[in-house]
Amino acid sequence: MEAALQEKLKGLMASKLSREMRLYLDTCARCGICIEACHAYASMPETRYTAVARAETIRRLFRRYFKAEGRLLPGLGETIELDDAALEKVHETAYTCTGCRRCMTYCPFGIDTQMIQGIAKLLLIGADREPKLLTMLADMSIAKGETIRDTKGAFEQAVRNLEAEVIEKWRGEAGREAIPVGVKGADVLYVALAGKHSIIPAAAIMNAAGEKWSLSYFEAVNFGAFVGNPEKTREISRRIIDEATELGVREVAICECGTAYRVMKHQTGRHPFEVISFVDLMERYLRDGRIRVDRAKLDGSRVTYHDPCQMARNGGVIEEPRRVLRELAGDFVEMRPNRGENWCCGGGGGLVAMGEKDFRMKSARVKAEQVRATGATVLATACENCHTQLSDLNEHYGMGVRVAFLSQLVADALVQA
Ligand code: SF4
Ligand code: SF4
Repeated sequence: MEAALQEKLKGLMASKLSREMRLYLDTCARCGICIEACHAYASMPETRYTAVARAETIRRLFRRYFKAEGRLLPGLGETIELDDAALEKVHETAYTCTGCRRCMTYCPFGIDTQMIQGIAKLLLIGADREPKLLTMLADMSIAKGETIRDTKGAFEQAVRNLEAEVIEKWRGEAGREAIPVGVKGADVLYVALAGKHSIIPAAAIMNAAGEKWSLSYFEAVNFGAFVGNPEKTREISRRIIDEATELGVREVAICECGTAYRVMKHQTGRHPFEVISFVDLMERYLRDGRIRVDRAKLDGSRVTYHDPCQMARNGGVIEEPRRVLRELAGDFVEMRPNRGENWCCGGGGGLVAMGEKDFRMKSARVKAEQVRATGATVLATACENCHTQLSDLNEHYGMGVRVAFLSQLVADALVQA
């Protein structure tokens, strides 16, 4: 590796060394409590899939360049040189970890492996070795923000083409748009994903609740966060923050996408509006009697719920989906473990978007077993990544369930007054 590149990478690493991060890198007692917590290790018991082994490459680089003993006596102690071999290792650890933070829940020091992997991902970007597809997708999101004035018309036309399908689920008031866009003073700005599955059920539910809402021109997904690029993450979030501020909305409701929700809710600072998940909104509508659902729609189905890591453990949306499901289903059963301790589906951290499947399937064997043990026929979730991964697992392991978004189940059960 050229000296200039090595210096650049050391600089990037230094930019991540907050007090908290230094504590994480200095503290690990190698007690091994976190080992069994990782779904990848539990499914494929190899040392390289433990949280502690994933962090070790970064710890050795840290000791080598940022601790006195490593700088003075690099030959002694556990250090490694920042070279091509180290970057290969960094790539493997970064993109076999979903950033689910289940290991952190069990670690007595609360060491955040996802945060440590943030260094790994930044080093890969600096060395131009990150998964290019993720960077390309992040750049496309940013470009959409820059060209929105020219593309608004095409977007609005595409939305008009979906309205008939919304009306099939809920007949709204005559003359009222089924998918309103660009509504100044709307109470809720709903930020969807690119597919119509993320728009139609949500639109029907908000119309049924009589909500004054508006669909965002932008997709919720944040590929900047998946690839670990802080600037791109901020830029992608900023488009939505600007839109919400300009419209003067009270709330921004993020669709069923765990990372999008966590980034917008917990990592973008304070705003003149509240950030909520669409699950929160559905639960509120049911609680306030603004929508009613027909439980008969799920008669004969045993339903279970997969807690998306970025919504539940890392986002705090835990009881709301359960309250929604108890309204919907007579036979709702929990997976074990659940809530903040739920097994990751194995598709986060950009793994689903990258398209790789072999590792995703092998490393999530425990998830498939956990679902099967419930005896459920419907597997509900509230995250796009999880939905894709669980659908793939369903096929791969013959789980025999119907994987469904929570919003889809609610929209299909709406009772028209
Ligand atoms: S964050 Fe999740 S995937 Fe990564 S090491 Fe911890 S438990 Fe495993
Ligand atoms: S539980 Fe925490 S301290 Fe123990 S090995 Fe894992 S990361 Fe290190």
